[in-house]
Amino acid sequence: MSKCDDIAIIGAGITGSYSAWRLRKKNLKISLYEYSNRIGGRCFTVQLPGIPDVNVEMGAMRFKPEEHELVNQVVDKLGLEVVDFELGEGPSEDSLYYLRGKHMQYNELATHSPYNLPPEYRVPISTLNWKVSNDFTVSSKNGDVIKSLDGVDLYKQSRDWYYAKYLDKETESFVKDSDSWVSGHGPDVAAVESIPVSDPSLSSPGPEPVKTIKEGFQAIPTGLVEQFLEASKKHNFYYNHHLRSLKRHKNRNYVLTFKPTTTTDGITTDIKVTRRHYGCHGNNLSSLLCTNGVVTTCAKKVILAFPRLALEHLDWEGFRQKTVEDYLKYAVKDAPASKIFFGYDKPWWRDLPLASKFAVSTTPLKQSMDFDTRVWREALRSGETVQGVGDNSIAMSSDGVYLARKYYAEVFNVSLADVPEPDSAVMSIWDQYPIGAAWYAWAPGYKWDKVQARMLKPSTEDEVYIASNVFSSASYWIQGGMEKVEEVLKYFE
Ligand SMILES: Cc1cc2nc3c(=O)[nH]c(=O)nc-3n(C[C@H](O)[C@H](O)[C@H](O)COP(=O)(O)OP(=O)(O)OC[C@H]3O[C@@H](n4cnc5c(N)ncnc54)[C@H](O)[C@@H]3O)c2cc1C
Repeated sequence: MSKCDDIAIIGAGITGSYSAWRLRKKNLKISLYEYSNRIGGRCFTVQLPGIPDVNVEMGAMRFKPEEHELVNQVVDKLGLEVVDFELGEGPSEDSLYYLRGKHMQYNELATHSPYNLPPEYRVPISTLNWKVSNDFTVSSKNGDVIKSLDGVDLYKQSRDWYYAKYLDKETESFVKDSDSWVSGHGPDVAAVESIPVSDPSLSSPGPEPVKTIKEGFQAIPTGLVEQFLEASKKHNFYYNHHLRSLKRHKNRNYVLTFKPTTTTDGITTDIKVTRRHYGCHGNNLSSLLCTNGVVTTCAKKVILAFPRLALEHLDWEGFRQKTVEDYLKYAVKDAPASKIFFGYDKPWWRDLPLASKFAVSTTPLKQSMDFDTRVWREALRSGETVQGVGDNSIAMSSDGVYLARKYYAEVFNVSLADVPEPDSAVMSIWDQYPIGAAWYAWAPGYKWDKVQARMLKPSTEDEVYIASNVFSSASYWIQGGMEKVEEVLKYFE
């Protein structure tokens, strides 16, 4: 076996690449290993055929410069260009709502929505959301503990429990439908997740200013890996390495066992072993030990920078402690999300009578990027593949395109014929191994600070750290992941 790594970092998404970049000048031997043949994970930028000047962001797409300090710093150090993200974040006055078969604008929700609401709830939607959270809760002085009026600590109960206790059914449906984030309203999401942080009457109306990266969001992790590799000849990066197990050797180093993977047209799978040594050729494995179709390496310390589902599938003693196992499986819920992009040679939709940049609906299109993934996964299984970017992990089928056009027509109140067939189409559904989720929501019954503290370094005896933002109460944005990395790096000073 070649000389052990001082640090092995697993996963080349934003958290793995940022960990590698932050540690790059420490005069250590660091290797970064990635399951697929792509740097970026959920930062994934493509361009549709014939539309090279538009970044199509299959995952993360925007950041808030006022809040996301670490993102600002990194983007600056990488020399990337920050530009306005035109859609902003959240609804604005010209947003379109299509709920229970009725078309409305944002400002009409209070008066026109087809829900049998009590008169006190016929108020602007931001005020209603604030009332629903604020009227039935009490917070401790520092805001750390939020209880319902009858004294139940809200981290213990589900959002549905809270709604059932304090709201009539119609208001509950209206609040959920108009918010439209499927992922936020699962029956198992903690009630405390629904408490808004600010009174809308105190903030300025309209969407928050948000920014994006001119070169595409994926340019952040790829730029970080580039600088990591430039910083020292001792550093390595290995694509197509699927970490399966982690074992502590008696000399206290860790033995990492990888399955080599192969990526064809964007789909990555483990290489099947048919005979001894097969699967060890063709990858950049020459310096690694490869027998029986697995690659083993060793490291003094290990940073796991990948999502919950893949962590759950990792064979490591440290995850077999009762509390850790419970946190890993049940403390956060995976929230899948999807995006669809159609390519056209002209923006015909801007001429629609109900044209709007942001639409929320009770159809499976739900919102600009939070769909009911089951419907779409099913649609992708039938029909011909339509022109995309040659990556089958984001290819669309003709049935999927048909469904999206049909719902789009319904949401914008036009006929199907008014929604032209696109020249090209792509779709991401973030629900498959090893990523498994777009982001997470806390489950009822778990104290966030306790879970976070434990899961950063799940085993006190081990030098194994979790740097991804799976267990983050701060944020599931990339900033939240980078903050986790900073917490992990305190152990490396
Ligand atoms: C649709 C969507 C929209 C989003 N919008 C935004 C946004 O606008 N702004 C924002 O800041 N955030 C956004 N996010 C969230 C953001 O993308 C994530 O928080 C962030 O990218 C997660 O980074 P990560 O490094 O923790 O994980 P990932 O990006 O998932 O990277 C993990 C990497 O580890 C690899 N891996 C997994 N298992 C293994 C294994 N066993 N062995 C080796 N490698 C492995 C994976 O292939 C992957 O490359 C969005 C996410 C989605 C899906």
